[in-house]
Amino acid sequence: MRMTFLLAASAVALAACGGAAEDTATTTEPAGGEVEAASWTYENPGDWGTVHDEYATCATGTVQSPINLVRADATDSEDVSLEINWAEGPMTIDGVGYNSNLVAPEGGYIMLEGERYDFVQAHLHMPSEYTIEGEQPAGDIHFVHANEAGELAVIGVFLAEGDANEALAAAFEEFNTDEGTRTLEGITFDPSAVLPATRSFFRFPGSLTTPPCSEGVNWVFMSEPVTISAEQIAMYTDLYGNTARPVQPTGDRQILFVGG
Ligand SMILES: [Zn+2]
Repeated sequence: MRMTFLLAASAVALAACGGAAEDTATTTEPAGGEVEAASWTYENPGDWGTVHDEYATCATGTVQSPINLVRADATDSEDVSLEINWAEGPMTIDGVGYNSNLVAPEGGYIMLEGERYDFVQAHLHMPSEYTIEGEQPAGDIHFVHANEAGELAVIGVFLAEGDANEALAAAFEEFNTDEGTRTLEGITFDPSAVLPATRSFFRFPGSLTTPPCSEGVNWVFMSEPVTISAEQIAMYTDLYGNTARPVQPTGDRQILFVGG
């Protein structure tokens, strides 16, 4: 496995994973327009599949996210290539009301198994949506990417309580429940600074973790966490409360593990 950090120059299209349904990639957006985010809540995740026809996959899907990651159940693989080529840029927050997305600095992308996916946005969930060995860290962050066909690849990183996360400090200060995009004057977002030093990861098929729970999402989840402080956790949860879908059955999908 090889990972590099380069600057790249290309435009990215807006899409989302755990963001508002209206931001999801074109392949997951229902014909006829936007889905109203207000039609589902984190208080009734078991009902998502029935509150709207377009959300049926939340109940009927077979490779739903999030899941519990278990190292002993994963198959070691040396065949998964991942290059992360994110750029730095002005920190821009896209509020969706119940959460906030960090807009990807222009030009960032990953190469996953030879396919290019442009970095679109990152967002947090608290507590963590994914669990590991049955443990639920304080949060996780999802870096959402889309290829030209609109297919998604998401890199997840656990957020464990500990030292304050400096790379996200300004974002925590600016999160609110407003909708819309705002760029923070003089603040740079360096997404690579949010990655753990050890780059071991799980690789598996999954879904969006918010309605419409569309499948076909290529998940990469780092096995090692980064930290956020108790204060940062409170800054987020005081605004948004719980933003985690409960873990879903792993089923018979294959989970690969790639050592860093
Ligand atoms: Zn998410």
